[in-house]
Amino acid sequence: LVKEVPIPFNLSKNDRDRRGLPIPFIVYRDTLGVPHFTIDDVGKLNLVLAQGLCGLCGNPLQPGEMWMIGGPLSAFHAEGMYIEPPAHEECARYAIQVCPFIAASNYSRRIEAKTLKPAAIHDEARFHDNEIAPPRPPFFALTRTPVITLFPADDGSGKHHILPQRPWAVVEFWRNGAQIAQEEAETMAGEPAPGARAWWPA
Ligand SMILES: [Zn+2]
Repeated sequence: LVKEVPIPFNLSKNDRDRRGLPIPFIVYRDTLGVPHFTIDDVGKLNLVLAQGLCGLCGNPLQPGEMWMIGGPLSAFHAEGMYIEPPAHEECARYAIQVCPFIAASNYSRRIEAKTLKPAAIHDEARFHDNEIAPPRPPFFALTRTPVITLFPADDGSGKHHILPQRPWAVVEFWRNGAQIAQEEAETMAGEPAPGARAWWPA
């Protein structure tokens, strides 16, 4: 599954998992140091949002340069918001090609979730299992925005909803780790619900 995609400099200093993939900064690590890719560490999540850091490498973002990865609802619905924080361009491009949860269409999210043993959870851990997230989208949008606004999620998770400033500065469509044409994404998206393509590129 690990493809021949060079690890960008910012991600090269991250710890690696057993497959050799850099472990994203916001991923929850249990008391044994084992990463759980479907579970965000809410403390780290809020740290990167408060300090303008990249959610993948944990280093500062450039002002006005925030790259988002999300499904069509997050990206293009009139009121679409995100849970995952922004990233550097090179970190986001790496993740969208290599990260199993994004790049592999039939990868089961449950595999990693099942590795979390209750005894290995930090007593004070605050995390939110993305397992309850909606079904995986038919494709992902890689987009750039200059500014985000945060709203408390108010769902008991301690997370924020992230509202990017739109219209998008850049929009790309990706599926199974490869870029696809907008027309292909349009076909996959099917008949749009009201408001579903408010921020779709012209
Ligand atoms: Zn980064």
